[in-house]
Amino acid sequence: MSVPFVDLAAIHDPLREAMLSAIASVIDRDAYVLGAEVDAFEREIAAWLDVPHAIGVSSGTDALLSALMALDVGPGDEVVTTPFTFFATAGAIARLGATPVFADIEPRSFNLAPARVEAALSPRTKAIIAVHLFGRAADMDALSAIADRAGVALIEDAAQAIGAEWAGRRVGGLGRVGCFSFFPAKNLGCLGDGGLVTTADDALAARIRRLRTHGGEKRYLHNEVGGNFRLDALQAAVLRVKLPELEGWTAAREANARAYDAMLRQAIPAEALLPPDPGPGRHAWNQYVVRIPGGRRDAAREALSAEGIGSAVYYPLALHQQPCFQTGARTAGPMSEAERATAEVLALPIAPGLTPDGQEQVVATLARALAP
Ligand SMILES: *Cc1c(COP(=O)(O)O)cnc(C)c1O
Repeated sequence: MSVPFVDLAAIHDPLREAMLSAIASVIDRDAYVLGAEVDAFEREIAAWLDVPHAIGVSSGTDALLSALMALDVGPGDEVVTTPFTFFATAGAIARLGATPVFADIEPRSFNLAPARVEAALSPRTKAIIAVHLFGRAADMDALSAIADRAGVALIEDAAQAIGAEWAGRRVGGLGRVGCFSFFPAKNLGCLGDGGLVTTADDALAARIRRLRTHGGEKRYLHNEVGGNFRLDALQAAVLRVKLPELEGWTAAREANARAYDAMLRQAIPAEALLPPDPGPGRHAWNQYVVRIPGGRRDAAREALSAEGIGSAVYYPLALHQQPCFQTGARTAGPMSEAERATAEVLALPIAPGLTPDGQEQVVATLARALAP
């Protein structure tokens, strides 16, 4: 029996008819870009996230890009962020001619270490991007205090964390701006690319709405240069079908995480495999990432693969190690925790559709591969 890393069919099959009729209704109305479907989705997800403004955009990457543009980030500015994240977090900074400044992570949360962020600040710092990696909220109390003291904007990259909570509040509504992705493998995915920007700031929201249509104030009048960052009506229609299911999917991910915790702790000593720390808030479990120290991670992954079990390494290189960031980026202090993580992390299947049998097979295979 093989165990897929993500079983999208398990998520989509029960919704197939509802998605097809939502798509058909967009075709019947012949309105494909922004419009009523996107407006309705924005209202529904703003309520779900408990944020005043939600702006549908073309991807999580463009959510980050338009948020940074709306905050006037540009050449000469620095933006402090984590080196242990998907490329887009720092790519968006560099694309605007600003300098990504990397601060190291905490070993258990895999998120920015607040003290390292504080040490990374300079007179050029314009913003901090906190990433809620794998679905676990970053330490928003400490990071908000640092951003406030420094007078810089705190941006949340919540691409992996929709539904996660910090102190009882959903992520994406805690900083100045929140950025989400609807890439198919995220916890709420569309059928292609899509993203969202959230904010409580009316002026910032209005500016992001302009930036997503080439900075147009109204048709053919442009006071600034934006981009084509629009969300498609077809994707909004699909997202409106899927959003009511998100809470159930998150509960399934939580149940899978709890089951792994119990099974792994029983089957494998913590020196050989360390399960993730769920943290103080609500974890959205986009990924269930274990640590396998001692240079045995790759062998464990091969053992899984030989049994037809999917797994993934997020991320094999930290961003300060990427060739493109050997210039135009800066590290603030050693990046030893991020580098150690690249050698030890392994993401196991956790998405809804994972069966108890499949989960047992994952754990048994790891236990065999990591036996002393
Ligand atoms: C997926 C992801 C993004 C980018 O989202 P896309 O929709 O793929 O452009 C940004 N940041 C993080 C942390 C992500 O995981």
